[in-house]
Amino acid sequence: MKKSERQGTELFHFENLSHFSEIRHFVSSRAGGYSEGPFARLNLGFHVGDSSFKVLKNRQKLSAATGIDLFWFTFAKQTHSGNVAVVDAASRGIGATEIRTALENTDGMVTIVERICLCVQVADCVPVLMYDPVEHVIAAVHAGWRGILRRIVPGAVEKMIQHYGCRAENIVAGIGPSNGPCCYEVEDDVRRETLTALGSTNGIISPSKNPGKFIFDQWNAVHIQLREAGLREKNIETSGICNQCQAETFFSNRAGQGTSGRYAAGIMLCKR
Ligand SMILES: [Zn+2]
Repeated sequence: MKKSERQGTELFHFENLSHFSEIRHFVSSRAGGYSEGPFARLNLGFHVGDSSFKVLKNRQKLSAATGIDLFWFTFAKQTHSGNVAVVDAASRGIGATEIRTALENTDGMVTIVERICLCVQVADCVPVLMYDPVEHVIAAVHAGWRGILRRIVPGAVEKMIQHYGCRAENIVAGIGPSNGPCCYEVEDDVRRETLTALGSTNGIISPSKNPGKFIFDQWNAVHIQLREAGLREKNIETSGICNQCQAETFFSNRAGQGTSGRYAAGIMLCKR
């Protein structure tokens, strides 16, 4: 990924998605906001116990840094589901300034509509951004281990194909900063659930150095699922940035022992 900075707000960008001038995308970091304590500084989540006023100011700051109108940001109430919504113009800006209007029970969004910035919030789970440069369709997905077991990422690819006629081999994807295989330790119940849900844990679960514990490789899991969905190897970029290792730069719920802010990944089609 490459980094940009504007008015103290540090943003990260996938190399592969940066080639397309008709879209804008970003992954935010902690830098450049108004929040304090475990939410310092650019917390973008209304739902984590931070002051709503500060979150709104942070989102205004993000808007200024990205050049994306605040009322184009579109958020969902994420529930670790496998639910992917097709977002139309009527939903532009829902959840942008308050949580009440955000899309219910949704963890992935796809759209073909310009000037809708699809945003997912994370603090250990994986943000995935996708773009089909042929059909001009975008997607943003929140995938933690539960979402991976519910196959939300291939679900979003499927929505792009069925709803907009995309072809998987054209889709470009970025797997964003999240809890990496260096840190993401899970208990045996997660290993067993993974085996039940996916039929195999190959490339996803391995023994941890701590006896009886396991490492869940979220990055490789998403990568495997994207490949199975038909995406080309060369079109998938993994940031390789672990938010827990870099807890100064990115929020980590695990590093914060359950209290932390949220960073966001967003993608938008510009007016052509
Ligand atoms: Zn790590």
